[in-house]
Amino acid sequence: MEITAGSHVWVEDQELAWVDGVVTSVNGNEAEVETINGNQVTTKLSKLYPKDMEAPDTGVDDMTKLSYLHEPAVLHNLAIRYGIKEIYTYCGNILIAINPFQAISHLYDTKLMDSYKGAQLGDRSPHVFAITDVAYRAMNNEGKSNSILVSGESGAGKTETTKMIMRYLAYLGGHAAAEARTVERKVLESNPVLEAFGNAKTVRNNNSSRFGKFVEIQFDARGQISGAAIRTYLLEKSRVCQISEPERNYHCFYLLCAAPPKDAIFRIVAAILHLGNIAFALEGEDSSVLEDDKAKFHLQVAAELLMCDLEALETALCKRNMVTPEEVIKRSLDPLGAAISRDGLAKTIYARLFDWLVKKINVSIGQDPDSKCLIGVLDIYGFESFKTSSFEQFCINFTNEKLQQHFNQHVFKMEQSVYQEEEIDWSYIDFVDNQDVLDLIEKKPGGIISLLDETCMFPKSTHETFAQKLYQTFKDHKRFVKPKLARTEFTIVHYAGEVQYQCDQFLDKNKDYIVPEHQELLSTSKCSFIASLFPSLNAETPKSGKFSSIGSRFKLQLQQLMDILNSTEPHYIRCIKPNSDLRPEIFENGVLEAIRVKCEGYPTNRIFSEFLERFSILAPEVLKENVEENVACKSIMEKVGLSNYQIGKTKIFLRAGQMAELDGRKAKL
Ligand code: ATP
Ligand code: MG
Repeated sequence: MEITAGSHVWVEDQELAWVDGVVTSVNGNEAEVETINGNQVTTKLSKLYPKDMEAPDTGVDDMTKLSYLHEPAVLHNLAIRYGIKEIYTYCGNILIAINPFQAISHLYDTKLMDSYKGAQLGDRSPHVFAITDVAYRAMNNEGKSNSILVSGESGAGKTETTKMIMRYLAYLGGHAAAEARTVERKVLESNPVLEAFGNAKTVRNNNSSRFGKFVEIQFDARGQISGAAIRTYLLEKSRVCQISEPERNYHCFYLLCAAPPKDAIFRIVAAILHLGNIAFALEGEDSSVLEDDKAKFHLQVAAELLMCDLEALETALCKRNMVTPEEVIKRSLDPLGAAISRDGLAKTIYARLFDWLVKKINVSIGQDPDSKCLIGVLDIYGFESFKTSSFEQFCINFTNEKLQQHFNQHVFKMEQSVYQEEEIDWSYIDFVDNQDVLDLIEKKPGGIISLLDETCMFPKSTHETFAQKLYQTFKDHKRFVKPKLARTEFTIVHYAGEVQYQCDQFLDKNKDYIVPEHQELLSTSKCSFIASLFPSLNAETPKSGKFSSIGSRFKLQLQQLMDILNSTEPHYIRCIKPNSDLRPEIFENGVLEAIRVKCEGYPTNRIFSEFLERFSILAPEVLKENVEENVACKSIMEKVGLSNYQIGKTKIFLRAGQMAELDGRKAKL
């Protein structure tokens, strides 16, 4: 659209992200804008976005109703709605949810649930219940599994949204209230348990989930909940031993301190706390001993709690077996080695406990082997980029690339089906793809995960040799960057932005490995529960074990998840964590990403009559001719000199920017 003096525009603003104003003059490719807060701004014309002067003051409940689908328009619309406590907005059939950070009365009560039951999407104001209702009905009517994918950055509200979905599903497919221990109740009750062991306070969220979760709710032929299964992904093990203020460890550790029950589970949690207090000191040249009496005390309590031999525990922490062809020698670890050994033990125990809990919950809920349909609900970590991003971020961001591809494919398919319905030609709409990043990460052989595994299997490797290998292999890959002067860092150009990873701990973190001495110690614990978490290795599997990698296992898990998702009809909820000005940071832009996909096609469409009402003034003569509506629309577009649009059966489809162009012409009349 041509921007001239008098045009209403959005201009970027340091504080507000975007501010609207009026162009006062244009000089070459620069414009002078007077903003509504009274500032004079000079900026490039290309940095200005037209403002839709006909947009309603209260915003629109579906972003596709916006005439201009660009970032400032989208954010402005969300901000208006957020201001009037409308936290939900659609973008087509994607639900956008903005975290209100406060309870909004009646937003989730039973009366509201009643009102969404059976309602068509769009009949009532946007809501998480509406999306869930659509999924449930689609499943019942078409006999096909559905899934609801909830995404967004940390603190955006994914877990809370997921809980509302489950509550609503329990409401729709639940059993008579008289039945006490129903499946749905057990599913809902599993939340606090999993949160106690898998959530922690972080700088971004007081109740941050440190694992991914996919809950599969199974239904019988009558649409009643008949079973469920919970799958979890990649618990952040490092948190058990490494936390930086003001973050905290998993909630359960504090729950234990507040009110110690003493059963097997808490015996373990307590043992981990005591393990953490065992400090080592140097003895001789490179051996270690317990630092002081305090360390001895904690060792003793830990041994009692784990019900294992005190000396055996000390040896397992401070010494390693060296197997030579002739004999097995006990080698001492230095204090650092002993501390790493101690942390490794704590992490392994905690991870096994968490897996056990999930298994136990699944057994207790019970699966329905005859269920034909399910609704899957995915609550998974969003993109992460920290000052030092490590292997965990690498896996998390890999997950997001996978889901993004799924999302792109879905949005593309949805767009296609609209175009098909309207019988317009869609053959040249480009599919936005991120296959190249996925290849970089997971291609076998040759991807980063493969190279990491190879490096881990080679005894002399270090994180430096790993980095060198990456630099060599991917020097021409356009999604891979070696930062200047970097020796052990690499950058991946993810779809949501660049993330720089530190190789330092990639090798260690990728090794799915339990120290044989730890395994032996715990498998002989007198506490049968603890021993059962560490079943002794099958005699047939070689002791020094086959190499098993976290990265490859995670990749496999993720592929299985994608297989399930691909067999379902997906629904998307994008959660947003607002800040004072609702400015999306680079990693918050899932919503904009959806819009970007949409903009590749025909982001705006209008029913012929609406289009004519708005623009017939551009060619008043066509209406007089008494032609068909579609012909009239075409004439207007031709007169204005726009091409590339499409005329469907009932609607006209416009490319990005065309609506603004038409408005621009109108303003000049
Ligand atoms: P993480 O990735 O760290 O797990 P998350 O996206 O799961 O983050 P939540 O734990 O769901 O984020 O939300 C963070 C907090 O925001 C909640 O503890 C709650 O206080 C608030 N919150 C989220 N959604 C809502 C809502 N719909 N209504 C009221 N408060 C909410
Ligand atoms: Mg969460």
